[in-house]
Amino acid sequence: MSGGAAPPPARYAEVVLPLPVSRPYTYQIPDGLAERAGPGARVVVPLQRRRVIGLVTAVDVPAPMVAARAILAAPDAEPALSPALLRLGRWISDYYGAPLGLSLRAIVPGALWQVGRPAGPAEAAERVVVLTRALPSLLERDQAFRRAPKRRAVYEAVESLGGSAPVAHLVEQLKLSAAGVEALVKQGLARIDRASRVRDPFAGLSSPPPPDLTADQRGVVAAITGTPVDKPVLIHGVTGSGKTLVYLDVLRSVVASGNGAILLVPEIALTPQTVARVRGVFGNQVAVLHSGLSDGERADAWRSLRRGERCVAVGPRSAIFAPVARLGAIVVDEEHETSYKQGTAPRYHARDVAMARARLEGARLILGSATPSLETLHLAVTGTVRTFELPQRIGARPLPPVEIVDLRSAPRVPEARKIPWTETLDQAVRGALERREQVILLLNRRGFATYLQCPACGDVLECPRCAIALTVHRTPDALRCHYCSHEAPVPTTCRKCGHATQRMGGLGTQQLEHFVGLRFPAARIARMDLDTTSTKWAHYRILERVARGEVDILLGTQMIAKGLDFPNVTVVGVVDADTALHLPDFRAAERTFQLVAQVAGRAGRGVRGGRVYVQTRAPDHHAIRAAAAHSVRDFAAAELPFRAPPSPAYPPAVGLVRFVAAGEDAERTRRAAERVAAWLRRAGEERLGGALTVLGPAPCPITRLKGRWRWHVLVKAVEPRPLGRVVRAWRATGRSGVVVDRDPVALL
Ligand code: ADP
Ligand code: ZN
Repeated sequence: MSGGAAPPPARYAEVVLPLPVSRPYTYQIPDGLAERAGPGARVVVPLQRRRVIGLVTAVDVPAPMVAARAILAAPDAEPALSPALLRLGRWISDYYGAPLGLSLRAIVPGALWQVGRPAGPAEAAERVVVLTRALPSLLERDQAFRRAPKRRAVYEAVESLGGSAPVAHLVEQLKLSAAGVEALVKQGLARIDRASRVRDPFAGLSSPPPPDLTADQRGVVAAITGTPVDKPVLIHGVTGSGKTLVYLDVLRSVVASGNGAILLVPEIALTPQTVARVRGVFGNQVAVLHSGLSDGERADAWRSLRRGERCVAVGPRSAIFAPVARLGAIVVDEEHETSYKQGTAPRYHARDVAMARARLEGARLILGSATPSLETLHLAVTGTVRTFELPQRIGARPLPPVEIVDLRSAPRVPEARKIPWTETLDQAVRGALERREQVILLLNRRGFATYLQCPACGDVLECPRCAIALTVHRTPDALRCHYCSHEAPVPTTCRKCGHATQRMGGLGTQQLEHFVGLRFPAARIARMDLDTTSTKWAHYRILERVARGEVDILLGTQMIAKGLDFPNVTVVGVVDADTALHLPDFRAAERTFQLVAQVAGRAGRGVRGGRVYVQTRAPDHHAIRAAAAHSVRDFAAAELPFRAPPSPAYPPAVGLVRFVAAGEDAERTRRAAERVAAWLRRAGEERLGGALTVLGPAPCPITRLKGRWRWHVLVKAVEPRPLGRVVRAWRATGRSGVVVDRDPVALL
């Protein structure tokens, strides 16, 4: 109406909030923020009565139907997310059928989602017990704690935690006696420290400069460098073949040419040696992204990578999102490890995300393993991935011979009673101890015993919330559920028939530790499993003790099978190889093969050689036989036919998506699963021309978890595309309460 120029039209931005909603929000961009609120930028926006952080995913989108509210602020000078990471977020969202908000929440560290100041390292000072005297043998221990079982329990708990532990953790989580802690201090066996916060456990870690490459390693490095960047590479090298040095040499040339790199490791607290070697080569150019970082420290590490101040990121699966500038290469070490799969939405697999990210950013992808997954071997066979082999150990050391000990017939040590401890393994351990060598014992079941049963009526105590037997624990005594952490006292009489004694069955690591301690009273024993941690760093400290030769026998669950390189380990015993062999899961054999072959690979890394003993009731099973022969090829040849027609098809023969319905009401859950299956069948026929096979619904093998009944539906297809379409179509329905897991690692 007035004569002035018309105001410029309002501009709108698409903003994604870290919420499980399938659609983005639209906000108006105020004039003053037009510069900063571009794609990838963090913005503060109003949401109902709150102010929240969102990420701009597009600008100049059409005006919404209802009036849009305005962006309040844009705190960063540079966009938080690069265009490539934004594209990666969309890829994850589309591939896994997850809301974009959840994908972006996985990519950007938690502190950057907080309005205002990111969380600082302000954890309160904490009282920590530190053991000051070692009691390495059982004899000394008996003398020190005569008639003081509570004090002994505290001592042994702290010891198994790596020699120090927060008092609050001991008293509150482990229910140990506070008086026992004080008594231990009075006795001069421990002191109390005040630790204000988690120290960087890798701070003092250094490694000598790496040795020269062997001819084999040089050959592989040259072959990789000569491979087109867009061709993913698998280094299939036997255990101890020196894969780490190959990665580092390739990365060195990447960094030398001004690019950055990411190195993924399965569990960083269990791989200090790898981290030390990376630091040894790249010094303070490395950002180690570990779980001990506070939110603020993680945000700092993230920013320093984003700005290019550091150029090599090392970490577990979430490090695949490290905002490394000019990404030149990604290495996925131990690519077969299931810890690369995220257990909550978006249920991504870091190896597959790595493949997508490498493609998006033109970076080289290197996968490495001694026991590659069948999926990766399949990609190698079809030519998607190029394989290079390192068939020899460093120094031409032989792979250790593996002796299979048949638990059904091999003579057992009389004192062992029900514990599967054969004469063969006993003599091997004794021999190693006499020669002052080290022993690793694997038992992939934690706790003292796997169940408690009434000998009169046969009743087994189950978790009230899960369809799983409760595990018996000692120090402190309790029954525990390994799925939901439910805890109950150990009953002395049967709840059903009142019988006066209860019998334990199934060996766990605590009982093995107890038995081995009695059997070899002079041996210094360390146990490593999920129960021996107050923080993950306890594991790291245990491994340091093993490396310094302060431990004679290291025993534990699968976490002792990963990547460890201790030259003085000459005997490895797999106490019971069958713990996972008969699980109702299509990967049971593959897991068993990988676990046994990997732990076997810890033996004989030094000049004294080594030998492996695998105790099993299934000596002829192909997983056991192939592991004993250190042969992935044998395993794959025997296993693949079980996963392809005429057997029910499973990956890698087909792609798989699992839909899980869970709820507190059994009948309603079943009906919900039936509706999912019906929807999937219709979608498969109407839109996808029958490219999908829909199986189920069926109860999950674990029928109830955390109080919720569980049913699942499996969807299979030979080609990936229809699976992608079906998970996106499902996402678009916006229905909640159903877990969608593409490429599941387990079907339990
Ligand atoms: P892998 O990961 O293949 O099992 P590692 O990378 O742990 O093997 O290497 C096995 C051992 O060999 C380590 O102790 C490592 O330091 C040593 N090593 C690797 N490469 C060389 C080399 N070129 N010369 C001497 N020692 C080497
Ligand atoms: Zn439970």
